[in-house]
This record gives sequence, structure tokens and C-alpha cells, in this order.
Amino acid sequence: MTTSLDKTSDVPLAPSRDSAVDRRVVVPYVTSWSEEEDPPYELVERRGFGLAYADETLADRDRRGVLWQRAGFGPGRGRPEFGKVHPLRQRRAMLRLLCQVCGGPADRTEDGVLWLFLDDRDDWPGWPENVAETEPPVCLACVRTSVRLCPALRRGAVAVRARRFPVAGVYGAVYRAGSSGPVAMRDGRIAFDDPAIRWVQATRLIRELHECAIVPLAQL
Ligand SMILES: [Zn+2]
Repeated sequence: MTTSLDKTSDVPLAPSRDSAVDRRVVVPYVTSWSEEEDPPYELVERRGFGLAYADETLADRDRRGVLWQRAGFGPGRGRPEFGKVHPLRQRRAMLRLLCQVCGGPADRTEDGVLWLFLDDRDDWPGWPENVAETEPPVCLACVRTSVRLCPALRRGAVAVRARRFPVAGVYGAVYRAGSSGPVAMRDGRIAFDDPAIRWVQATRLIRELHECAIVPLAQL
């Protein structure tokens, strides 16, 4: 089945670099660029269903029927907007288990697929078991680069291998019906089996991580 994701098959697999950008800076694959401007859209209520675009096309929904944020596509154009994640590249990386930094295959061994987190072991006993994660996995080379270049990760990065990682939902803006059109309620994580999924404008795909094991960085 052809989906909107297939349109991105020509996305460069190497980290995006641009002559206008300091060559020492690695721009993650999932990072948005300043010239990737969001196309205009008008949100409407489709009666009996939920949220929709007024001029909706097949490319606006994934194969589950979830409505996605529209985004321009042009990695490497303009300047990187660190902290702003490109919805289509995030979705592609999470779905296909691509490294969020370089866009190549994420590292995978018999112990599972590799993720890199800030150390949140105090969050709950057994962390990060069952975490609903919006950050795609990583490859080995990019773990080393990320820990070297990212001050937050240098303070406390944790590598995690997960054996099971089902796609579980989306993160996005949740709306409700209003008398003069949909009304934004909150941003949040919505599971596919939550009825609110029909009222989400999604920006990130979520996987739940199970059978997790924390791996010391030195052992990678
Ligand atoms: Zn990588």
C-alpha cells in the first residue's frame, strides 16, 4: 500500500549539512529547517468523525487514518531549527527504526534496538520499561557523536536496548468540537485506541518500549 511516507524515500541518509551552517554542527535528521515552512491549512469538524482539513488530501493522514501536521519538505534549506522536530521525518524514522541523528538504520542486536535517553531513572521503578517514546532510536556512531556534542547528554546519557517497541500512538494537539470550528484543548500523547485520536493533529509517532535493558555507554 502506498502511503504519504513513501514520498520521503529520496530523503538523504547522511546528516544534513549546509555551507551556511558550521560544518562542525551535526544537524539531526529529524530537525526542521527554517525554509520548511508549514503549508497553510484550515481545521474543520467532519461531522460524525472528528478533526479534518478543509482541503484534505490522502497525504494528510497515515494508514491508520490519523491526521498529521502539514509541513514543508526541504532538509538542508535555510538554517536548522534545533528543538523543532519535522513531523514527517520523525514519523518515518520512528516507523522504520531509523537513527534520529543520521537517518541510517538504528543499531539493532539480539538484545534489541538502541535508544539514547537522558537519565530519568528516578521517574519510576523499572524506568524506562513501558515508556511512551517520541524520540526515534539511534545508531552506534551517533550515540558517540551525540554524547560528545550535546551538553545535556554529557551530564547524564543512558543507552537503552528494547526488545519490543510497538507503535502505540501519537503526540499532537488535541481539539474538541466548537460552535465555530474545532477548539484546541491541549498537547499530549494519544493512544491509537483512545477515541480522542479522531481529534488529534499529530506531530510525532510514539513507540512503547518493553523488555528494556540499560547499557553502560562504555560497553557500546
Ligand atoms: Zn546515526
